[in-house]
Amino acid sequence: MERVLNFAAGPATMPIEVLSNIQKNLCNYNEEGLSVMEMSHRSKTYDRIINDTKNSLKAILNLDDNFEILFLQGGASTQFAMIPLNLADENDLTYYAVTGNFASKAFEEAKKWTNAVDITNSKSDKYKYIPEINNSKIDKKARYLHITANNTIFGTMYDKLPEVDVPLVADVSSNVLGKDYDYTKFALAYAGAQKNLGPAGLTVVIINKKFIREDLSNKVPTMLRYDIHAKNNSMYNTPPTFAIYVAGEMFKWVMKEGGVKALEERNIKKARLLYDILDNSTFYIPFADKKSRSIMNVTFNLPTEELEAKFVEEARNEGMINLKGHRVLGGIRASIYNAMTFDGVKKLAEFMQTFEKNNR
Ligand SMILES: *Cc1c(COP(=O)(O)O)cnc(C)c1O
Repeated sequence: MERVLNFAAGPATMPIEVLSNIQKNLCNYNEEGLSVMEMSHRSKTYDRIINDTKNSLKAILNLDDNFEILFLQGGASTQFAMIPLNLADENDLTYYAVTGNFASKAFEEAKKWTNAVDITNSKSDKYKYIPEINNSKIDKKARYLHITANNTIFGTMYDKLPEVDVPLVADVSSNVLGKDYDYTKFALAYAGAQKNLGPAGLTVVIINKKFIREDLSNKVPTMLRYDIHAKNNSMYNTPPTFAIYVAGEMFKWVMKEGGVKALEERNIKKARLLYDILDNSTFYIPFADKKSRSIMNVTFNLPTEELEAKFVEEARNEGMINLKGHRVLGGIRASIYNAMTFDGVKKLAEFMQTFEKNNR
């Protein structure tokens, strides 16, 4: 079978060059006689792999030594708990911009440890847009403001980061390296790798060292402490060795493609192909408000659920898979992360036009 065009939200498509290179090195990495999978994380070779991976990401994001990169496990969802535990003390004030399903989960988790307040909440508008954050409403005593930079399920994204007088924490799971933010603005940013960075099983945390605290309550479990992971170069215990190696290969690919700015420009062009069809159609119904549209996840509806099912089915027959929307929203979602090519999105756009003509 030929490779399909995979529009999944995550685990998501990866560049064929990266996969082929991993395959070439799978059984015998760099002629060293063993696979990265079989290698001790305490070996010299692995030490080089993890440090190269870390340094590539720092270079891509223009981060200096004030920032630390951590390679953790437990997915972005574990960060929902680690952030309040490490950045706030019990009952401290924290702010959450509740702009979607994952944002809401992060907020609920923060309530267990802190006095978490939803400074904005667009749930009653079905998370169709990202509300403005009014800095004058922010109490400077708050430990941080948490945002979800890209709402994967709803297809909304912060085009510009909010300017606030408290430290900014962001879930960048679905637009890291796809949207060009100034990462020095973040106290902490985190991402599950399975969308834009490689395989599932790895979570990347980018943290300003000022926010790595050692004076935490001794109620905080060891494995949930950033200071422990930072001190041990993410090898306090066995890290997800293979996933880190693959992320490193992805970072090399990002640099070869021209870096985040170049990828963002390409992503904008890709997204425009689809949004132009949605905006010029009386058949397709775009979900997200124009001003909040994501360049990573494009969400829309068709006139009926039956037509949506037919759309998904016919697209699959043409080699375009995973276009069904998330179960909490329904409809159609095309995830077009960095590794999805312009030609891949063009094929989907052409399919959409033909489908409209045949089914209007
Ligand atoms: C996928 C996703 C998550 C959940 O990630 P896990 O690694 O499965 O825990 C959280 N936030 C956002 C924005 C996501 O896209």
